[in-house]
Amino acid sequence: MANVADTKLYDLLGVSPSASENELKKAYRKLAKEYHPDKNPNAGDKFKEISFAYEVLTNPEKKDLYDRYGEQGLREGGGGGAGMEDIFSHIFGGGLFGFMGGQSSKSRNGGRRRGEDMIHPLKVSLEDLYNGKTTKLQLSKNVLCSACNGQGGKTGAVQKCSTCRGRGMRIMIRQLAPGMVQQMQSVCTDCNGEGEVIHEKDRCKECDGRKVCKEVKVLEVHVDKGMKHGQKITFSGEADQSPNTEPGDIILVLQEKDHEEFRRDGNDLHIGHKIGLVEALCGFQFMLTHLDGRHLVIKYPPGKVVEPGSIRVVRGEGMPQYRNPFEKGDLFIKFDVQFPENGWISTEKLSELEDLLPSRTEVPVISADTEEVDLQDFDMSQGSSGGHRREAYNDSSDEEGGPHGPGVQCAHQ
Ligand SMILES: [Zn+2]
Ligand SMILES: [Zn+2]
Repeated sequence: MANVADTKLYDLLGVSPSASENELKKAYRKLAKEYHPDKNPNAGDKFKEISFAYEVLTNPEKKDLYDRYGEQGLREGGGGGAGMEDIFSHIFGGGLFGFMGGQSSKSRNGGRRRGEDMIHPLKVSLEDLYNGKTTKLQLSKNVLCSACNGQGGKTGAVQKCSTCRGRGMRIMIRQLAPGMVQQMQSVCTDCNGEGEVIHEKDRCKECDGRKVCKEVKVLEVHVDKGMKHGQKITFSGEADQSPNTEPGDIILVLQEKDHEEFRRDGNDLHIGHKIGLVEALCGFQFMLTHLDGRHLVIKYPPGKVVEPGSIRVVRGEGMPQYRNPFEKGDLFIKFDVQFPENGWISTEKLSELEDLLPSRTEVPVISADTEEVDLQDFDMSQGSSGGHRREAYNDSSDEEGGPHGPGVQCAHQ
């Protein structure tokens, strides 16, 4: 057996690389009869391919290049001529000698292209994610036209695009340097990459030759308990249909809406709650309506103190776990302690209260080197700038300000 770089062209003719010219001729004639377009219109490019193989293998110079260097030898040896790139890609595939490996637009699973996925956001409330929800989603999508079975016209109306010879792609080969060529593919503009055209009069009336029609589809969406923001719900193969294409998926991406009361962190929930001073000091219970409508009475015993801004937890009252909804996270409550307003109690009563409260911390000793200053009410909304302070002390003289500022001056008076 002859030692050759590549056998594809021999394989096309069904002969071994050591075949004589006579054997090549015989093989070619037999196949040409079988695949000639006049006799076999469904053979596609088979006839062109075997003709090309025969032409190369019966030309001593080309055969030598091919035997020694394979496809690359033919390309660089100027196998040229119009339409050559098409034959090359038919026989040797779309890629460029392996090392630049152009990716074909067709996927590997049976050569069927896969359509694009359709991604939609789906807004859900925290209640929906807590309780689970089934919702119907209506959408419009392309389906294969039933009138023409997705063919765009009657059988035979579809013609192969002559510009790209039905490939949908046009290939340009550019020589970058001797021995190095670049192959570029672009979508055929005459047929929009379809590889075929349908004359106006032959077009299907239903779809106007587009092969697909719009259809309204209703999907039943199950939002499961415990699902999270950003989680995807996939409907396989429900995206737009198109001929010779495996439809992509419809993918819904959950968008959790903010809740007025509850804030979620993983499987935990957080809320804020206001209590009075008496609750903070003497224990309390309060009612909370949960995300599933249950009324929880949350209890904290007398004798335990809640400091302002502190956090307490109710175990097992957070969000249900996804796919394990009987297990739940925790509910965290941050307490805002509301103090009573000025004048809520008479001064006599205050001394009674003082007797009940924990004793005061140490009182400062007043002596000759101490100064007494008054603490005043302060309104946060008026800010704390120096200007306001000056007005408050009715002393706006900058000269008198000195290094300590007017506020300190005032305290001496
Ligand atoms: Zn149609
Ligand atoms: Zn075309």
